[in-house]
Amino acid sequence: MPRTALRLFLALGLALCTLPAAAWGPLGHRLVAALAWDELDPAARAEITTLLAGEPDPTLPGIATWADELRANDPDLGRRSAPWHYVNLGEMDCAYDAALACSGGDCVVEAIRAQSAILGDRSRPRAERLQALKFVVHFTGDIHQPMHAGNAHDRGGNDVQVNWPDGSADGKGGNLHSLWDSGLFNTAGLDEDQWLARLRGLPLAVPVVADPARWAEHSCSVAMRDGVYPPRAKLGTDYLQSWRPVAEAQVRAGGSRLAMLLNRVLDARD
Ligand SMILES: [Zn+2]
Repeated sequence: MPRTALRLFLALGLALCTLPAAAWGPLGHRLVAALAWDELDPAARAEITTLLAGEPDPTLPGIATWADELRANDPDLGRRSAPWHYVNLGEMDCAYDAALACSGGDCVVEAIRAQSAILGDRSRPRAERLQALKFVVHFTGDIHQPMHAGNAHDRGGNDVQVNWPDGSADGKGGNLHSLWDSGLFNTAGLDEDQWLARLRGLPLAVPVVADPARWAEHSCSVAMRDGVYPPRAKLGTDYLQSWRPVAEAQVRAGGSRLAMLLNRVLDARD
């Protein structure tokens, strides 16, 4: 292969490897974490800063995608924690019943509860509490992605193929899960700072309640709304324009709810 062609081939391969993985894209997770930081109490901020000292990027957004990278970096923990990223409530009228939806405690609702308890337990080793913080920040992002609380039968929209306009001639091919993970955000033409400014200016459209089970039920109800599952695979800009504000409201709520959770768990009076 001629050298320029080889270089192009390698560059293309690299570009494909860095496409967002199958979870609320890195941007969504980082935005939830950044919005949460805005609302943290000084005591919670101080404790988080201590826990994060020594991390490559010692910020809340800097650890927000760690749990999605486990499959590559720590395959054993990655496998064990794989079911903690979602819960399937679509076939259960969006009502969370732990016995039915979360056997063995292996779902996003119980993972948030369990990891929050570890984070808040000051008798535990620092490394354990740091890992719990990383899980709580990530899973609180995931639970607000409606497809992470959707149908079991189509694996949260992963089995629903769609194509959406992304500015290219053929549109972007993917599935409904990836469209909600990242496509709705990536097609808006905003960078991370612009997104953050936009979301900070949004009023809270979703009630801030403290219970992850209610978060999952609400996410499921969003996933089940008429029109989220489109009648045709080929989507137009109208789909993006209709549903992007809904995804934005979810991220906005995720930030406030994560802050509420962390403020409570890291209450200085303990
Ligand atoms: Zn995830």
